[in-house]
Amino acid sequence: MIYEVIIVGTGAGGATVAHELSKKEWNILILEKGSDYPIGSAVNLLKTPNLNLIYL
Ligand SMILES: Cc1cc2nc3c(=O)[nH]c(=O)nc-3n(C[C@H](O)[C@H](O)[C@H](O)COP(=O)(O)OP(=O)(O)OC[C@H]3O[C@@H](n4cnc5c(N)ncnc54)[C@H](O)[C@@H]3O)c2cc1C
Repeated sequence: MIYEVIIVGTGAGGATVAHELSKKEWNILILEKGSDYPIGSAVNLLKTPNLNLIYL
């Protein structure tokens, strides 16, 4: 898959940016070094088809 946006970190800032940019229907990749949903993350983001989350 080709991504238009790559976001590092799915904290309060990353999750908000991912949510807003996903409205543009871009393919977005989020890279997260944590092993679980961090504080501030939005679990509903993972139900958005054009968002992919990879734990590093
Ligand atoms: C104990 C505590 C209590 C708080 N209480 C409140 C509160 O009540 N109200 C409030 O408004 N604010 C509160 N804050 C502040 C709030 O948590 C932060 O302001 C906010 O989370 C900052 O958002 P952020 O997206 O910049 O960073 P974060 O939310 O910290 O997100 C950063 C993310 O990036 C990931 N990351 C970091 N480095 C990498 C890397 N190299 N590769 C991949 N992923 C990476 C991290 O794992 C994390 O998920 C609190 C903070 C703390 C520590």
